[in-house]
Amino acid sequence: MNGNPAKKPTGPGGTGHSIRSAGGSRSTATASQAARVPVYVTDTGACGQGTFAAAAISRGTLVATLAGERISSDTCAQRVHDGVLRLDDPLQIGKLLYLDLDDASRLFNHSCNPNLGLRNESDLFALRDISRDEELRYDYATTVSSDISISTWTMRCCCGAANCRELIGHVLTIPLAQTAAYLRAGTFQAFILRELRQVVAALDIARRVPARAVDKSAATARRGDECDE
Ligand SMILES: [Zn+2]
Repeated sequence: MNGNPAKKPTGPGGTGHSIRSAGGSRSTATASQAARVPVYVTDTGACGQGTFAAAAISRGTLVATLAGERISSDTCAQRVHDGVLRLDDPLQIGKLLYLDLDDASRLFNHSCNPNLGLRNESDLFALRDISRDEELRYDYATTVSSDISISTWTMRCCCGAANCRELIGHVLTIPLAQTAAYLRAGTFQAFILRELRQVVAALDIARRVPARAVDKSAATARRGDECDE
């Protein structure tokens, strides 16, 4: 931050999958501010507090709209620097735009095998049918840009899923098969989809342009540099 963009805060999470819930006890009423279906907040055990389904939820249902103050990446970085916002708390909603999430919205934990997905800007929806008393969780990595100029965020994960990635990072750290499944489910926010499109386009170019053509071009450029000196 402040001239060091690599330090700017990124998406949600932190040092454990329940980091957002580590702020002490909160009420069910608080959780209901974000949720669109009956939920309750309680301890998850080893991973702090989390939000749970108070009734069965059908696949595709809008479960919650995460909310908070819309802030720029610079403001976000400044707040982290000033100690009024934890690096782990903001939700990225655009390339340089974040939500400083409210308390209720911070109580949705991460899972590497989530039952919720994020679409539009901050809508959490059910990726599958969810049973009553299941914890409601989404994959934080789906919300984090891979742009290394703004993202250095990582998080140790203890979600307990069989496919737990253990170290959670930006969107391109998600295994390809899982990214494909998320795409089929319509899980990503618009700014992440734009980013994925750019990656796919770059890969497509790489497939169509032989590596030797790139090497030749680089050699030509180097010769040009030498002539300029
Ligand atoms: Zn995990």
